Amino acid sequence: MKKEEVNLPMAAILGQSLKTIEHYKHEQPHYGELLDILEEVLILREKHRRSTGASLISLDERIAGEKMSGGFPLVDFAGGDLNLEAPEAYFRDLLEIGKKKSPEESARILEELASGALSYETIVRDSFTEGPEAIPEEREGAGEEEETEDDGDEVFDLLSLFVEESLRPSLEKIAEWYAPLLKKRGWNEGFCPICGREPKLAEIRNEEGVRFLFCNQCGYEWSYLRLKCPFCGNDDQDTLAYFSVEGEEQYRVDVCNNCNRYIKTVDFRKMNRPACLDVEDLATIHLDILANEEGYE
Ligand SMILES: [Zn+2]
Ligand SMILES: [Zn+2]
Repeated sequence: MKKEEVNLPMAAILGQSLKTIEHYKHEQPHYGELLDILEEVLILREKHRRSTGASLISLDERIAGEKMSGGFPLVDFAGGDLNLEAPEAYFRDLLEIGKKKSPEESARILEELASGALSYETIVRDSFTEGPEAIPEEREGAGEEEETEDDGDEVFDLLSLFVEESLRPSLEKIAEWYAPLLKKRGWNEGFCPICGREPKLAEIRNEEGVRFLFCNQCGYEWSYLRLKCPFCGNDDQDTLAYFSVEGEEQYRVDVCNNCNRYIKTVDFRKMNRPACLDVEDLATIHLDILANEEGYE
């Protein structure tokens, strides 16, 4: 594919996303601060999308095909070789945004990265093997353990978000390159074929009602049976349910009473605007809170 062909739609997507953000700033003003950060992040993401050159992994088509057929994600974050130069550069840029919200913590992480006290690669790998919660709180020599806890939590979340986001442009490239092969081979798993992460969001975008799972990490989407839990594969209708909030029928929370997990679903048939799932995810945090209160993870 020629470069221009890729850039134009991406710029158009950015335009749509920014419009959706504006919409939500109006509709859900309590998310204002988060939406402001997301806006800055998306603009920066577009810049890095254009400059991301070298591939995160080198994988020939045969091995990629075998991985897909075996139900393994393409990128092996636990043990595979990764070229993290571009993601690390993006991570540093993201921390510059972080400086506005948490100046001291962001500056310190930038310093520690520069001095080698902190390794970006370790942070990334740990976030995949131990979950996003593993991100740098447990650093050695962090010193003052009695930091104000609220602040710590906020920084914590922002950092997890930045680590995830820093890989996004590189993973989007992989998703773009291997999409034709994925379509040919098919993918029936409930986790992402590119990075292996579980989806937090699903969407229904056409009249046939096909459900697509969305990977926040890669931006990749794949179709998945509507009446089946992506996390445990349960398809017993008696233990699958959903709830929605009055006045917000375009969203629902699908829950599984077998594994007690949930996934938010955006029904774009009930909306007259284009899908922008990064923004929808953020603008529906109240649904995550509700699901957690109901005992779903
Ligand atoms: Zn993914
Ligand atoms: Zn389940």
